[in-house]
Amino acid sequence: MSTPTSLKAPVSANRIGGRSVPHSRTTPVLDPATLEVIAHVPRSTSSDVDAAVIAAHSAAAGWAVTAPQERSRILLRWAELLLQHKEELAALATSEMGKVLKESRGEVDRAISEIQFMSGEALRLTGETFPSSTPGTLIYTARVPVGTVAAITPWNFPIVAPVRKIAPALAAGNTVIVKPAAEAPLSTLLLVDLLDEAGLAGGVVNVICGSGSEVGAALVAHPGVDAVTFTGSTQVGRTIAETAGRRLIPTQLELGGKNAVYVDVSADLDRAVPEIVSASIQATGQRCTAISRVLAHEGIVDELVLRLAAAYDGLLIGSGREAVDVGPLVSEKARDDVAAHIRGALKDGARMATFRSDAPEGAYLAPVVLDRVTPTMSIARDEVFGPVLAVLRVADYEEAIEVTNSSEYGLAAAAFTSDIRVANEFAHHVQAGMVHINHGTSSQPHVPFGGVGASGLGPYSIGHTVQDFFTQVKVVYVKS
Ligand code: NAP
Ligand code: MG
Repeated sequence: MSTPTSLKAPVSANRIGGRSVPHSRTTPVLDPATLEVIAHVPRSTSSDVDAAVIAAHSAAAGWAVTAPQERSRILLRWAELLLQHKEELAALATSEMGKVLKESRGEVDRAISEIQFMSGEALRLTGETFPSSTPGTLIYTARVPVGTVAAITPWNFPIVAPVRKIAPALAAGNTVIVKPAAEAPLSTLLLVDLLDEAGLAGGVVNVICGSGSEVGAALVAHPGVDAVTFTGSTQVGRTIAETAGRRLIPTQLELGGKNAVYVDVSADLDRAVPEIVSASIQATGQRCTAISRVLAHEGIVDELVLRLAAAYDGLLIGSGREAVDVGPLVSEKARDDVAAHIRGALKDGARMATFRSDAPEGAYLAPVVLDRVTPTMSIARDEVFGPVLAVLRVADYEEAIEVTNSSEYGLAAAAFTSDIRVANEFAHHVQAGMVHINHGTSSQPHVPFGGVGASGLGPYSIGHTVQDFFTQVKVVYVKS
């Protein structure tokens, strides 16, 4: 796009072996609030992947023997630099993918907390000892680095997603090659600049920009890559698992969701409604853990729909740089996909409970509550990544559990109830990686995070469970 803005837009480079490596082929990065080109980044090829693997391998031996205290110190320094550059990072994330600035600032804070936790994990990579059947034999396990890890990230959390992979990889002594989402690669490049400033040696973390089908796939297939951590759609996750499976290398897959909340007849709606609105609308509904199905008890459904629709109709829409509640979707294509899902649901018999349709021009979409959705409709089954809430009516919590579990996904689920039996039964029987009772689907920065079924595979991210992906257990027998 050769608009004047596009000509002025800066040209970024890959980061390979501690150097900025410009590229002859580039691709534009758009601001979804204005549809202007804000930068150009490399459209890398498989030969760039080769270069990054070589750089990561050259750095691997030195980094693997770097004292864990030093790895921890670099991570803490990185966290301090994120705090110093908080405004810059938040503004960049908002301009490349559109979420409101307040949420981008929250994302920087969250990334800082996760790095701080992981800096401690560097010192908690402990092993075990075992009794021996032969006298004088010491048997122990040690956690050793996996090697070179490919980290492939989505655009919806442009700061947290790469941090959630880079920090645990570094804590455990691995080298990394990051392939950020083509929609939002700029935050990753800035984060890795800050990592250089924190004192990380060149080549330990490398960044290659480009398309998933070209460089993402080449990374996963590369014989020099020892493990793949991926966050993104279930469809791409499956492809990655197939390639990695043939190569017998481990994967950590954080995939999509169709997260349900059950609202019981005993629920306090004053508490439930704001939690559901916030958990469904943050990032314009483009969160993997966004609530997208509301399973409402018949006894409160009409009241609940009225309140949810009123709250949705009151949300301010606009550029994330303004004081609004909801920003644009990531692109016009994403807006069109979500709008098509809404049209399909209305055709299937769902009823529009919200009134307004006054979104600004561009990648914006007015948030929608759909009532009278049934479990077999596409809107109740597909991950619709946008500001759409589908309300399904259920007779009791048992039906709510059945409907929740009828989805192939199993990321997060929530229930609002003041009945302890309902709370316990829901938490016990629902098939989800994370269950929230009287609590939206937000998570904390030291607690394992992940999904089951089509929502994920491999060790959970964030908490201490990352060790099971980012280290290999070595068993040692020593006879004196
Ligand atoms: P996506 O289309 O699956 O892309 C994710 C990443 O994979 C991007 O970097 C993409 O590159 C790359 N990729 C695409 N095809 C590839 C291939 N064949 N081989 C290797 N890499 C490939 O997902 P998205 O649209 O960016 O993100 C939204 C999805 O992420 C949603 O489904 C959401 O639920 C999920 N998500 C899950 C979590 C979680 O923790 N469970 C968190 C956040 C998001 P391109 O950018 O070039 O396409
Ligand atoms: Mg963009």
